[in-house]
Amino acid sequence: MRRLLLEGLARRPLTEKPPVVDDAALAELAASLERAARRRLGRSLAIREVDAGSCNGCELEIHALNNAFYDLERFGLRFVASPRHADVLLVTGPVTKNMREALERTYRATPDPKWVVALGDCAVDGGIFSSSYAVVGGVSSVVTVDLHIRSCPPSPIDILKGLIALLEPASEKVDVP
Ligand code: SF4
Repeated sequence: MRRLLLEGLARRPLTEKPPVVDDAALAELAASLERAARRRLGRSLAIREVDAGSCNGCELEIHALNNAFYDLERFGLRFVASPRHADVLLVTGPVTKNMREALERTYRATPDPKWVVALGDCAVDGGIFSSSYAVVGGVSSVVTVDLHIRSCPPSPIDILKGLIALLEPASEKVDVP
């Protein structure tokens, strides 16, 4: 027992190294998003996240946007608790039968102009859950989708780039590193 305790004290923690993030590139991306939001809306972007049936992998990446590592609220990116305060509905997961009506009601409660972003492969077409009896399909089978951000799950950087693409007209798109 004593040997195990001593080994535990001497051994380095068994944790993964944090991902390598270029702080300058991240700041530039976030600042681009903030500028684009101010041009289109006159203020910062408000996002309402809707989990329509995801495995929560996509949510972990969304939450990472606000953690101490990325800390994107410093650039004005805000997640709001009500669709009535949102510009963007960020929808994850395949839409399950149980969540279909909730998604439709959330969509109707969001004021115009609004955008719907389908986040993750499951939100595109149901992904690995597409054959489930409990799944209706991708987000576009329930509400109109303005942008798909693919991958399983998309990284915080992918999410940022997607939101910039949503707000920037093609001619004004920034050259992101
Ligand atoms: S795209 Fe991947 S991480 Fe996101 S809900 Fe589907 S399986 Fe989970």
